[in-house]
This record gives sequence, C-alpha cells and structure tokens, in this order.
Amino acid sequence: SDFLTSSDPAIAELINDELQRQQDHLELIASENFTSPAVLAAQGSVLTNKYAEGLPGKRYYGGCEFIDKIEQLAIDRAKQLFGAAHANVQPHSGAQANFAVFLTLLEPGDKIMGMDLSHGGHLTHGSPVNVSGKWFQVSHYGVSQQTEQLDYDQIRELALRERPKLLICGYSAYPRIIDFEKFRSIADEVGAYLLADIAHIAGLVASGLHPDPIPHCHVVTTTTHKTLRGPRGGLILTGDAELGKKLDKSVFPGNQGGPLEHVIAGKAVAFGEALKPEFKTYSAQVIENARALARQLQNRGLKLVSDGTDNHLMLVDLRSIGMTGKQADQLVSGVNITANKNTVPFDPQSPFVTSGLRLGSPAMTTRGLGVVEFTEIANIIADRLLSPNSEEVAQDCKRRVAALCDRFPLYPHLEIPVAA
Ligand code: PLP
Repeated sequence: SDFLTSSDPAIAELINDELQRQQDHLELIASENFTSPAVLAAQGSVLTNKYAEGLPGKRYYGGCEFIDKIEQLAIDRAKQLFGAAHANVQPHSGAQANFAVFLTLLEPGDKIMGMDLSHGGHLTHGSPVNVSGKWFQVSHYGVSQQTEQLDYDQIRELALRERPKLLICGYSAYPRIIDFEKFRSIADEVGAYLLADIAHIAGLVASGLHPDPIPHCHVVTTTTHKTLRGPRGGLILTGDAELGKKLDKSVFPGNQGGPLEHVIAGKAVAFGEALKPEFKTYSAQVIENARALARQLQNRGLKLVSDGTDNHLMLVDLRSIGMTGKQADQLVSGVNITANKNTVPFDPQSPFVTSGLRLGSPAMTTRGLGVVEFTEIANIIADRLLSPNSEEVAQDCKRRVAALCDRFPLYPHLEIPVAA
C-alpha cells in the first residue's frame, strides 16, 4: 500500500520483489499455494491488534465481541467442511497443531510411531531434531522398497512389536492414497491413538477427492496453507467432542498464548471458499494436472517414486539419470521454476544433496493452468534436466516459463507503488 511505501520503502520494495518473484516463476513446491485476495485482505486487517486468549464466549480479555463471531465462523465452517464434531482453529502452524495433540495424548517417554522423514514423513512425526523425537520413544515405518508405497502388513508388524501409544499417518512427500481405515485397525489392535496429519492433502479431503480421515482417526491435524489454499496456519479436528475439549486446552494455555485472529479470519474466509462448488472443481483440476505432469515426465524417460501419483504431488527419482536433487533443483531454479530437492525412499544421498525432486500442482492450478500447460511444464523440466550443460536449452526453457507466467497473471491488482 501507499502507507507502507512512504513509511518503510525498504520493506515495501522487498515485498514488491517477492510479489514479482511469485508472478514470474512457475511455483511447483507441493506445499505452497496462492491464497485469494480476500484471504490476504483478512490477514492484513486490524484484527492483528487484538488479544483474545481463550475461546469464543470464554475470553480472558474484553472487547472480543466481534473477534468471537469471527472465530466462531471459522470453527463452524471448518467443522462443516470436514464433517468434524470439533475444530480448533488457533494453532499458529501445522507443527503447533501436532504438538498440541502430543500434549493431549502423551507423556514424555511414551512411544510414538510415524513415517521416517526420509520416506516422506514430517519432522514433527518423531525426527530426532524435533521435540517429537526428543521427548518420545520413536519407531519409524517406511514405504516398501519394491512398490515405494505403504505396506500395511509391515506397518502392522512393526506396531505389534513396538506397541506405540500414538500412531501417526499423513505425510509431506507421499504421492499415493492413504487408507485411514487400515491404519485404524492397526491402531486398535495395538491400543494406540491414531493421528492423521493431512497437511498436504487437506484440500483434496475437503473436496471429497481423497478418503476421509475423520471417521477413522482419533485426531486429525492439518495446515491451512497447502492444498486448502488458506493463510499460513494450523487446524485440529476430531470426531470426538470430549477429546476436543482436551485438545483446546493443549493449544491454549498448553502451548500458545494469544491466537492470531487476523489469521483466523483468513482461515474463515478460506474455509468459506472451500465450501463452494468451485473449490471442488479446483481440487479435481489439481489432481488432473499432477497426473498430466507425471505422465509426461515419465514419457520423457524420468522415473517417479512409486511410478506415479494419486494426489497433488510427485517425486522425481533422479538416480536413473545420474543426477542429485541438489543439481536438479539448481537447474530448474535457473529457468525460474521453483521446486525442492527431496529425499527418495532409501536415498543413498544426504538430506542436503538427495536424489529426488518434489513437484506439486496446487499453486499453478490456482493460477489457472490446465493439463496442456502442465504437459508443457513437464517438457520444460525434462528438457532442462536432460541437457544440463546446454545454455541454449536453458534460454529456451526460460522463455517458455515466461510465456506461461504471462498468460496466467497472478495478483494483477497488487503492485505496491514504489517511491521514486
Ligand atoms: N505436517 C506435515 C505433513 C507437513 O507437510 C507440514 C509442513 O510442511 C507440517 C506438518 C508443518 O506445518 P508448518 O510448517 O505450518 O509447521
């Protein structure tokens, strides 16, 4: 805005630079998306000024009469969207949503079981560098070496051996469907709670295009900013209203102070958008676009982990072309494609180098690209990766990226006037 430009030109200019970067790059990071201008407006509002510790109707501060209505709308819409009996919309992030669940269900020293980070799990599912790995005894399952997909018999065997108190499913880099019912039967057999962290697939779940975790899991957590296309934040859902009350206490006062009501308003707006039929159309296109991208990468001879995708993301296994994830990441970033290097299951390389490139369709689908354009993206990526030393190919790829970005404008209304 003009206010920012005149009061802090340095930050205004950098925000403009970031806007321009988002506009002129192909965003293929699977965990990113572009929120609507309405979500942006809610987040950049006066709600950021308000303290509102507590929950709607039970606050520790005065002046919450409008905040209460906003947060209640967010809660009601989240419940409706996911068919959940209870929702807490206050977690500042996915990591804090998960921590609130641990605080509710576990004591330090208890056993948890989640997927190995290097197979597609998340840091908060028991990585030694995260509190989940420091405070709990962790056993990790992975995908099958043969199919590179979940092997429920193997998971069951490990669970029977380890007897975790909490079993975690839901991942950061898994391109296939998750069978929550099977996970619940394993959890029941060993007497574990089941947590589904649907951060990546929440938008697909909300659209009915991925199996529903709510009937099968004790608790469901998610971020709100990935396929769900809301502001950066977390959300906790459960079908068990009694458990919901305990989860509320673990969020506040358990591990947070004042909720970010401007973000919660953004969540309410995003949930409202996700309840509309257009969002289901969008999610279906996300999946179709991912399939088109995967298909053409494979047509061009690139190998994908598990040989394809059922959701919004895929992992290119670069070992077959003798390249590392780090090299591939640098090559595509050189032609204005943003993605991320990622370990593949049983990766021989370190997490800083890796053998994989993770790609996702949510963000560019929001910009309006369809199957034809995602096929072109696959060709650009393949051209670049298969001719890593050609400057001519690099220039051609860059030109094709720019052409796509020009055809599908992003936030055209948003340019901040820069002081002369
Ligand atoms: N859970 C999963 C499965 C994720 O992929 C992520 C983020 O990438 C998170 C949790 C953490 O979310 P946040 O970055 O908001 O803490």
